[in-house]
Amino acid sequence: MAQVSLNQVCKTFPGNIKAVDSINLGIENKEFMVLVGPSGCGKSTILRMIAGLEEASSGDIYIGNKKVNDVPAKDRDIAMVFQSYALYPHMTVFENMSFGLRLRHIPKPEIMQRVNEAAAILGIKRLLNRKPRELSGGERQRVAVGRAIVRKPMVFLFDEPLSNLDAKMRVQMRTEIHKLYLKLQTTIIYVTHDQVEAMTMGDRIAVMQDGVMQQVADPIAIYDHPKNKFVAGFIGSPPMNFMCGRIIKKDNRLYFDEGNIHVKLIDDMRQKLSAYIDKEVIFGIRSEDIYDKLFVSEAPPENVVKANCEIYEPMGSEVYLYLNTGKHTFIARVGAHNRPKVNQDIDLVFDMSKVHFFDKDSEETIV
Ligand code: ATP
Repeated sequence: MAQVSLNQVCKTFPGNIKAVDSINLGIENKEFMVLVGPSGCGKSTILRMIAGLEEASSGDIYIGNKKVNDVPAKDRDIAMVFQSYALYPHMTVFENMSFGLRLRHIPKPEIMQRVNEAAAILGIKRLLNRKPRELSGGERQRVAVGRAIVRKPMVFLFDEPLSNLDAKMRVQMRTEIHKLYLKLQTTIIYVTHDQVEAMTMGDRIAVMQDGVMQQVADPIAIYDHPKNKFVAGFIGSPPMNFMCGRIIKKDNRLYFDEGNIHVKLIDDMRQKLSAYIDKEVIFGIRSEDIYDKLFVSEAPPENVVKANCEIYEPMGSEVYLYLNTGKHTFIARVGAHNRPKVNQDIDLVFDMSKVHFFDKDSEETIV
């Protein structure tokens, strides 16, 4: 069993730099867990503490059922794939992949078998006699993954493994790593700052900010029910649109009033928002929940919003509209058939069943 758990783990670097603050995280056996967050939020530090490359300042780390705080890195039965690949330049691919096994005095025939097996899985058999400088970025990445696979570890740790690759290769390697995971059936902890990688690869995602865990859940739960404004804005592309405004009550109905736009809330949100009547809140709506009214057959008039279309970007399959209410700017992601006139006001429809509200002070989700 290779579950990993962190209990109240903290890491403070010299100079009182608090990189990781009281993290509790349980990773199930055979789970693909993605740690995601902006640069400097502490995700690599967590991975390095699990690997044993960095000592926790406090708290406990378990791999399987064993507390590993005092277990040296080489005895933790994990394999780590680094952003830089960390291949030995003077060794061939075969030597790089077999290096760890030779150190462990694994018999030669078994080394041959494991390296050949991993090379076949990764499609790099023809590269075994080459040196790293004779490989492309994607091939080096495969060798680094192969070196981890041959170890047959209980847990794989990946630290931004795709960030040195170009956009196309990143997408290709993303699916390859995912297929590999399905084949190997092992526990993976994967660090990235790329929310698309997080959404597409993880069984669950752990979103971090400033050393603090913000939310841990499956990708769709995080997307549909973010715990706070940070998570709502970090996961999703383009990011969620936010606007400040007031909740007001009129004719026994609740409305969100931004100053220039005014939309009616659905009854399901009424209970949670009634405490905010006449108070400021942060309204959030994803770009795909906004429609050009021209293409909506029966738009409720209370959900229609006027905004100036400042620019539009045709993306092929869809169009991004950059809009301005006079107080806030926001983005709508609409069908490719939409071609509004630039610098003209257009009518948009907000899907009010999909909107989010956040407390203005705490930025926690209200509904
Ligand atoms: P990135 O995506 O840029 O790699 P990250 O989320 O992985 O960022 P960490 O590398 O874990 O972030 O760093 C977290 C914080 O700890 C940062 O503020 C960083 O400057 C600091 N830090 C990391 N390593 C050290 C160190 N050895 N000494 C002092 N501070 C450090």
